[in-house]
Amino acid sequence: MLKFKSFLLLVFSVLIFSSCKTKEPEWTELFNGKDLIGWTANENPESFRVENGVLVADGPISHLFYTGDFHKGVFRNFELKAMVKTEPSSNSGIMFHTQEQPHGPLLRGYEVQINNTYERPGDFHELKKTGSLYGIRNVYYPTVKDNEWFELSFKVVENRCEVFVNGTKVVDYIQPDDPYRPKNDKLKVFSAGRIALQCHDKDSKVYFKSIQVKPLPKAEKFAMLVSKEWDDKITKMMFENFPVIDFHVHLKGGLTIAQACENSLKLGINYGIAPNCGLKFPVTDDASLKAYMDTVQTKPIFRGMQAEGREWVTLFSPAAVAKFDYIFTDGMTWTDHKGRRMRLWIPEEAFVDDEQQFMDELVGKIESVISQEPVDIHVNPTFLPAVIAAKYDELWTDARIDRFVNVLAKNGVALEINSRYKLPTEKILRKAKEAGVKFTFGTNNTGADLGTLDYSFEMKEKLGLTYKDMFMPKKQNEKPVLVKGLPKKITG
Ligand SMILES: [Zn+2]
Repeated sequence: MLKFKSFLLLVFSVLIFSSCKTKEPEWTELFNGKDLIGWTANENPESFRVENGVLVADGPISHLFYTGDFHKGVFRNFELKAMVKTEPSSNSGIMFHTQEQPHGPLLRGYEVQINNTYERPGDFHELKKTGSLYGIRNVYYPTVKDNEWFELSFKVVENRCEVFVNGTKVVDYIQPDDPYRPKNDKLKVFSAGRIALQCHDKDSKVYFKSIQVKPLPKAEKFAMLVSKEWDDKITKMMFENFPVIDFHVHLKGGLTIAQACENSLKLGINYGIAPNCGLKFPVTDDASLKAYMDTVQTKPIFRGMQAEGREWVTLFSPAAVAKFDYIFTDGMTWTDHKGRRMRLWIPEEAFVDDEQQFMDELVGKIESVISQEPVDIHVNPTFLPAVIAAKYDELWTDARIDRFVNVLAKNGVALEINSRYKLPTEKILRKAKEAGVKFTFGTNNTGADLGTLDYSFEMKEKLGLTYKDMFMPKKQNEKPVLVKGLPKKITG
C-alpha cells in the first residue's frame, strides 16, 4: 500500500513538473473593463472612453496606445485576440509594432483592419475589409456584420502575420527581406513596438470588449512560399487599394474549398467561388441554392453564382439569388435560328454555317442576355468557337465591338478579363474602358490549378486600370436581381 502511495506521489510530481515546463504563456487582458488605465491616447483623447464595461472608439481621429506595465507595453512575437463590434459605416483597426506619434495616421508598423461596411465619402473609396493586414494583404470579401460581436485575432512571429476573423484565417503574410513599400510606407515592416487602437473618424463607432495578448518566444524566420517578384507585385496592388480578386473560380477537377482558400492565402488573391446554377446543374432551385449557401456561409471567399443556360431566370426566386455576392453569366450557351442549342466551347455543338451570319446572331444573343438578365458580370467574353477562333480580329469588327461595349455600359454590367481564354483583346478592353465599363478578373478554371491571373494582370498594366475601373459586389438593396427582378423568360 505504501508502495502504491509513493508511486502515486511520483506520478503526481512528474505530472506537475511537466505541466509547469510545457505550460503555455497565459493570456493577459490589456483592458480592465473599467477605465483606460494602462492606455495613452494621442490627439483627440475624448475619442476613446469606457461605457458599460466596453471600450468605445467614437470621435475624431485618434490612436490609443497600450503603455501599461505588461511586457512594458512592447511586443515582438505575440498573439492578440479582441472582441469587437462595429456600427454601420465604421472604420477602426488594431495596430502593432508601432510607436507613439502626436497625430495623423500611424507611420510605423502594421494595422489589422476593422471595417465591415465603411466606404469613405469623397474621392477615395476604401475597399479593405475586416481582417486585412492593411495595404499589405487585403481582405475584400465580407466576413462579419455590423452590430454583432466578433473575435478578431492575429499571431505575429518573426516575419509572419496570420489574421483570423471568428477563428477563420483570412491572411497569412510572410514578409520577404527588403519587401516592396511605397516611399511613405517604409516603416510598415515587422519590428517590435506598441499595440494601439485606431479611431478613424467622427462617423465611426467601434466597441472593444476584451483585448488579450500572449507573448510568444523568439523563433526561426519563415521561408517565403512565393517568389519575391510575385510578393512585390501583389503588395504593390494591395497598397493601391486594387481589388486583387479572381471572381471566377469553380470547385472543379477535385479542387476543394479548403485547397482554394489555402491557395488564396499563399498567393494573396481573394477568390469568388461560384457553383454552376441552372437546368441540369448542381444548383437548380431555391432549395439546392440554400443548401449550397449553408456550406459556404463562413468561408473566407466571395460567394458567386454562375447562371447557366437561358432558363435559369425561371428556376429561382430573386430573394434566393440575392444571397450570392454577385451573379455572372456568359454568351456561350444559346439556341440558334435553326433551333440548335449550342455550347460554343464544344466543337461538336458549335454550328457555324455562315461566319457573318453567325457573328450577327452571336452579338444579338449577347445583347439580349446582357440587357434582360439581372447579372453583375459578363464572363468568358467575346469567345468564339474553335472553327472560327483564328479569325477573331476580323470577325469582331468595330461595329460589333461597339454594340457589345454599349450594351454592357448601358446596363451597368461588368466585363471579365479572362485569364484562361486571354479574352477580350486589348483593343476591345480599351473601347470598354472608354465607354465606362467596369472590369473583373477571372480564371474559369476547369481543373484544380487556378493559375495566377497572368493575362488579367497584364491587361491591368497595359490599360492602366485602377481600383476605380473595377467592379465590386453591390450592396444588398442595389443588386440587379432585386432592382430589376427576374424576367419570366429571355426573348431574342
Ligand atoms: Zn465558369
